[in-house]
Parts: sequence; C-alpha cells; structure tokens
Amino acid sequence: MAGGHLTVDLGAVAKNWRALDAKSDKSVETAAVVKADAYGLAADRVAATLARAGAKWFFVAIAEEGAAVRGATPRDTKVCVFSGHMAGDTDMIHDLDLIPMLNSVEQIERHFDALPDHPFGIQLDSGMNRLGLEPDEWDTVRDGVMTKNPVLIMSHLACADEPDHPMNAQQLACFTEMTEGLDVPKSLAATGGTLLGPEYHFDMTRPGVGLYGGFPYTEATPVVRLSLPVIQTRRVAVGETVGYAAGWTAEVPSRIATVSAGYADGLIRAQSGRGHLWADDIACPIVGRVSMDMIGVDVTHLDRVPKALDILGPHQGVDVVADAAGTIGYEILTSLGHRYARNYLGT
Ligand SMILES: *Cc1c(COP(=O)(O)O)cnc(C)c1O
Repeated sequence: MAGGHLTVDLGAVAKNWRALDAKSDKSVETAAVVKADAYGLAADRVAATLARAGAKWFFVAIAEEGAAVRGATPRDTKVCVFSGHMAGDTDMIHDLDLIPMLNSVEQIERHFDALPDHPFGIQLDSGMNRLGLEPDEWDTVRDGVMTKNPVLIMSHLACADEPDHPMNAQQLACFTEMTEGLDVPKSLAATGGTLLGPEYHFDMTRPGVGLYGGFPYTEATPVVRLSLPVIQTRRVAVGETVGYAAGWTAEVPSRIATVSAGYADGLIRAQSGRGHLWADDIACPIVGRVSMDMIGVDVTHLDRVPKALDILGPHQGVDVVADAAGTIGYEILTSLGHRYARNYLGT
C-alpha cells in the first residue's frame, strides 16, 4: 500500500489546550476553534477530546460545521458560529442549538425575527474590516441588542502574531471603547492574542492554530506526523535530471527516492526543489518538481533508505513546511489530503 500515513496526536491537542488555558487567569474561559474540520484534523475527534479536557465553548466558521461538534460533545457545550445567522441557517441554529455571532444589522434583524428567544453573540469590527459591526453601526443598535442579552461580544485581531504591530493596541482600544460598561462576557484573543498578555484576554480566549501545534504558539507540543512511503529508489548519474520539466540535475552520482504523495495530497507544488523530508534524524532535500502524487527526495547520504520518509514530525512542523512552500502553517494543516491513512493517538 502506497498511501501516506498521517498520525494525529489528540493527547497533544489536549495538552496544547491546557497549556494555552494556563496562559490566562482561571476566571477566563478558554474556548477551542474547530472550524474547517478542526484545521483539517477532524472536528468530531478534536471536539470530543477537548470537551473531555474541559473545554465548554467551541467555535466553527459556518453553521453546517456545528453538527459534527454538537454530535461529539456533551449537551451543555456551547457551539458558536463566526459567520453568524445567514439566510437558510435558522433551522440548523435552532435544531443543533448553535450560537450565531451576529455580524451585521441585517443578521441581527434576521435572528430576532426568526428565533427571538434563541441565544446569540455579537461580533464587532475593531479594525480588521472582515466581519462584525463597525463602531457607528454598533452605536445605533447597541441598546436594542443589549435588552436581548447577548451571551458574548467578540472581535478579532488582524496582527496578533506580530506582538509589536501597532494594530494590536489600536484594536484593543477600539474594542474596549465599543464594549465599555456592557455587562456581557467579552472575547478578543485567538492564539496570538492569548500570547500577547492578560489585557487581551477579557472573559474568553479563542485559540485555534496553537491547539494544532502551529505558529505563533511556538512552545506547542507537535500534533501531526506525516510519513510517506518510498515507492522506488534509483541511481542518477551526473548530468541526469529528475522529475517534470527536468527540474533538478545531478551534480554528483546520486540516489533519489520517489515518495508517495504530492500536491493532490496538500503538499503544495511551491515546495518544488525546496524543503526536506526526514529519515529519522537525517534531513533529505526535496529535488525537482512536486508531482500530483509523488515527490523526489535526495537520499544519497543515507546508509540505508527507510521504507518511509517523514515530511511532518518531531523535526519539522507545519510552519517549516509552510516556509518552504511560501505559505503559513494554517494552509498546510487545512490542506492535509484525504488519501492518507489516518491514525488518531490518545482517543
Ligand atoms: C480562526 C479564528 C480564530 C482562531 O484563530 P487562531 O489564529 O487559529 O488561533 C479565532 N477567532 C476568529 C474570529 C477566527 O476567525
């Protein structure tokens, strides 16, 4: 069998959640963001694991994603939806008992008309200009909304992974001003904001990527290991080339392993000729173009070629692979392919 093996350590996810929880005061709720199928790692398994670890609040991007979380967690778990209450969402919000984060006057009206007694939160735009009510809109609806008792008021930081970025303090000031004197739980911080310090924590933090071992939570316990079987090895003489477009030329007599996985499995093509796979502790450079289903790896320096090489593991997390591919760890995680045999540890 040539498929790659993806191992997801749910124990490590729980450990990262506990460690991020410990960054804020005991009185601060630590939620878990499990949108995009828990960043590609399986929302039902991650949510069940984190509920056992003590998480009571979960966030998804769209209402449809709420079903997996609702099904995997205890009945009193809060499942919140960042995209709010869209047309067509009412039955899901009601039947799955989801909490929409209302983002606009239109969504507020829709929610109050369709589900007048159903819990909701409010998302404010403190400067990112992506989702949420702007300060002047919030001014016009705030008093009416407050009579309906929102369960949470939140906003999102645009630059929290850069601690020195002036946007952080600007957004903090804006959010503080927009929520001043309101007796409602407040939340501003995702992973990056959690690490910025207590003034960003308010009543709830909402880490996502840090749970899964990604930047900016550099102290995270690694969560994923991805091992790719070697299908074949070959000797390549000086002057011979490897792969599409003859993208790599041997300068010394070389041994090349062809491993099974490629851009169709989320190992994006921009990694061609960049980055490494690992034979236990030894780095082996990627050579030539990443194909749809295969990658060439220089194993000339190995005494023995193993049955499989790791592209994600203890030596190399998603952010290292992301650097080689010119992207971010989030994209590597959420692109992890569906052909891999998945093995979950710690369930
Ligand atoms: C994705 C997201 C989060 C989690 O962000 P991370 O950087 O992955 O921790 C929190 N809040 C909102 C609004 C998000 O969109």
